[in-house]
Amino acid sequence: MPVPPHHIISLSGGKDSTATLLVALARLPKSAIQPVFADTGNEHPATYEYLNYLESHLGLPITRLTPDFSRQIAEKRRFIAMDRRTGRDKRGAKLRWSNRRKREALAELRPSGNPFLDLCMLKGMFPSNRSRFCTDYLKKQVFVSFVDDMAQSGQRVVVWQGIRRDESDKRKNARLFERVGPGFYYFRPLIHWTTAGVFRFLDEKGVRPNPLYASLGRVGCAPCVYANKKDLRALFALEDGPAILDKIRDWETRVSACSKTGRAAFFHGKELAGARLGKVHPLVFWDRHRIDAIKHWSEKPTRFNAGDWDGFEAPEVEFSCSSEWGLCE
Ligand code: SF4
Repeated sequence: MPVPPHHIISLSGGKDSTATLLVALARLPKSAIQPVFADTGNEHPATYEYLNYLESHLGLPITRLTPDFSRQIAEKRRFIAMDRRTGRDKRGAKLRWSNRRKREALAELRPSGNPFLDLCMLKGMFPSNRSRFCTDYLKKQVFVSFVDDMAQSGQRVVVWQGIRRDESDKRKNARLFERVGPGFYYFRPLIHWTTAGVFRFLDEKGVRPNPLYASLGRVGCAPCVYANKKDLRALFALEDGPAILDKIRDWETRVSACSKTGRAAFFHGKELAGARLGKVHPLVFWDRHRIDAIKHWSEKPTRFNAGDWDGFEAPEVEFSCSSEWGLCE
């Protein structure tokens, strides 16, 4: 007799994955279901509280996956300490870490216990909309290797994803059922659902949505590299806004220490605040992108000059943190 498959629900703390979990609970015994949350270490406190609420309300434990970069950090420390390279990169900067930068990096670069911070210290930079390594390293890889280990051990696994076709172009062809590999399948029961239908379903089931929908309109990292001006204004105005600001200020100092240039800013990739690296002096660029300057910028109204931004403003971009895995919502 074949062993029944194990059902993993990819949980983000958002409405769609919560609705997916409720659909699974309506169809399967609790013992066959395992909700799994990949923790970036940069979630909003309300999301951690919401996961606790779901656990006690539904009587079902949630598995939290936290990536560990200790090994890579140890390797990077060795690399920095031993760096004797000669020559310059294509921008003309020396390849080798200077002795001063080495000292500062080696004093800071140690596992902190927070995966988001550890990853950024390891990379010497924060992710950006051009280089979104956060989703890959903090969510996708850790989740896929968890499921794949299970599939490799002979257990058939069905991963339930809260993906809807009307969410984005990327998801408009999402399939209901997909075979990923031997014993490894995706099931997406919400592909034809609408946003309103999801909220209605949660209400009918007596499960409240993540409170961040009421305050920020979305769930994800606090902040997310995709946040726009309006998102940041709303985030910093919340009760825990000052604590989030302190966190990012501290992270910018620590990641800067681990960077070969000695500079890092959480929102460096967005050309926010009207400054573009290469068009303005690097000191101006980094100064305008520090989190305090970004907060100040987020509080100013957007103004446009004919055909151009007014020198301090930039177009607001839509939040688009959504992978095909349904791990960021
Ligand atoms: S929510 Fe944003 S910052 Fe967080 S992992 Fe996804 S893309 Fe990265």
